[in-house]
Amino acid sequence: MGTFWSTTTTRGAPAVALADLSTEELAAFMQLQRAAYDELKLRGLKLDVTRGKPSAQQLDLSNGLLDLPDGFVAADGTDTRNYGGLLGLTELREIFAELLGVNLDQLTAQGNSSLTLMQQVLVGCLLHGAVDSERPWSAEGTIKFICPVPGYDRHFALLNSFGIEMVPVPMHEDGPDADKIAALVKDDPSIKGMWVVPTYANPTGDTVTEEVAAKLLAMPTAAPDFKIFWDNAYALHHLTQVETKSVDVISLAASSGNPHRPIMFASTSKITFAGAGVAFLAASTENITWYLKHLGLSSIGPDKVNQLRHAQFFKDAGGVREHMRAHAQIIAPKFDAVERILTERLAEHDIARWTTPIGGYFVSLDVLPGTASRVVELAKEAGIALTPAGSSYPLGNDPDDENIRLAPTMPPLEEVEVAMDGVATCVLLAAGEYLTSH
Ligand code: PLP
Repeated sequence: MGTFWSTTTTRGAPAVALADLSTEELAAFMQLQRAAYDELKLRGLKLDVTRGKPSAQQLDLSNGLLDLPDGFVAADGTDTRNYGGLLGLTELREIFAELLGVNLDQLTAQGNSSLTLMQQVLVGCLLHGAVDSERPWSAEGTIKFICPVPGYDRHFALLNSFGIEMVPVPMHEDGPDADKIAALVKDDPSIKGMWVVPTYANPTGDTVTEEVAAKLLAMPTAAPDFKIFWDNAYALHHLTQVETKSVDVISLAASSGNPHRPIMFASTSKITFAGAGVAFLAASTENITWYLKHLGLSSIGPDKVNQLRHAQFFKDAGGVREHMRAHAQIIAPKFDAVERILTERLAEHDIARWTTPIGGYFVSLDVLPGTASRVVELAKEAGIALTPAGSSYPLGNDPDDENIRLAPTMPPLEEVEVAMDGVATCVLLAAGEYLTSH
């Protein structure tokens, strides 16, 4: 008995039951799987578990926003209809400063997409240099970023669009491999930063512990202006009663002597309306000043009417927490279904392992190495759209061809169930095919 998986992670390594079958037993297994797959194809399904979008039922939770704001004057007298207020509306920033665990003067509220803010910061660093840069990053030749894998495909696409080289490091249950990262950044000044999704990561659901965060914030870096893009997109997105608290990264950075290293991003995209929410950036006050200085050239102020609407809708931080529990009630059964069906169909064969997240939007499924692309292909032919294999890796390159990101939030529960059962059928068939031919 060995393990199929070459990557060293802290997740359990299963035994190899399917690989232990005799040639005859494997042939009989394959016959069953082919029949099951043929049956699946005959169902003519048209299901999609590709992207982590909120369902219509979740969006409905925020329909009250459509009748707000009540008036247009903010608590501090701001006429939200007018220009100005680049930092964002105080009464909304107060609510999210409490939720994100940052000081009010370290938080800015902007438009609807945190991804836009990440791009703005990256462009600012490339063209102008960060607060602690000696020169613009673009003047330094090759630039590299550490990318915990599996990770968020849009982070990687953004880096790639600027020609930034990506250095993958494994994501573990307690966060990215900090020792590996420390060893990489110690002597290489071209490594300018890293991305991390610290709470309920996309796609593993893992949360960075205080200990790992402390290492990342304190580690010596050859680049004096090393940045951690701390993308806390799922900070408040609990699936159980355990409401994991994010690390207080900005204070920890300050006490580690690297106050300008982390830049936190968050948004209400999966709290209210994914297309009409509010995005946040939190960082040292010097970083905030730097960000607003550059932003101020492209905007006279954010959509404060929408920010007022959000502040009135939630009233306070407790209102957001309560709202997130209503989200969990809708989506937790979908995650339970994924766990139940994968366990029922796959556990005994030991050809797959998957995460059981307590927050966030995804399940990360590792199948028999060398079969992830085939699983996605089989699923597609059976009418089940999965995220392309490898999409959670820089340049779409999963060296072991084993990882598939599952996104169960958007389809109705019954469709999630049918899709997962179909995915399990594809995982089994692909594993059988692989073992028959190797
Ligand atoms: N960051 C992560 C880790 C995500 O998974 C997503 C969306 O899936 C985003 C950011 C997008 O955030 P926004 O809608 O605020 O641009």
